[in-house]
Amino acid sequence: MKTCREVHKEASALLDGQLPLVQALGVRMHLLLCTHCRRYVRHLRLLAHSLAMRARASSSPADFVERVTTHLECEQRPPRRIDRADST
Ligand SMILES: [Zn+2]
Repeated sequence: MKTCREVHKEASALLDGQLPLVQALGVRMHLLLCTHCRRYVRHLRLLAHSLAMRARASSSPADFVERVTTHLECEQRPPRRIDRADST
């Protein structure tokens, strides 16, 4: 039987579907018996869902990256040098 600490470490991978079957079964067995870890995983799932919703809501316009890149390139250009020696 997995410990609560092990379940907490593997919860994110479980929610992402990246936990190997045997490990996932061990976590799920623990979740059947442990209220605290069930609550932890539920909160983790809600947090992931909220972040995904927020990311979707604030997605940038299609040309955002291009506009930022252009702006940064302008910022990185050295300032024009004015040579006063020629103006006699
Ligand atoms: Zn637990």
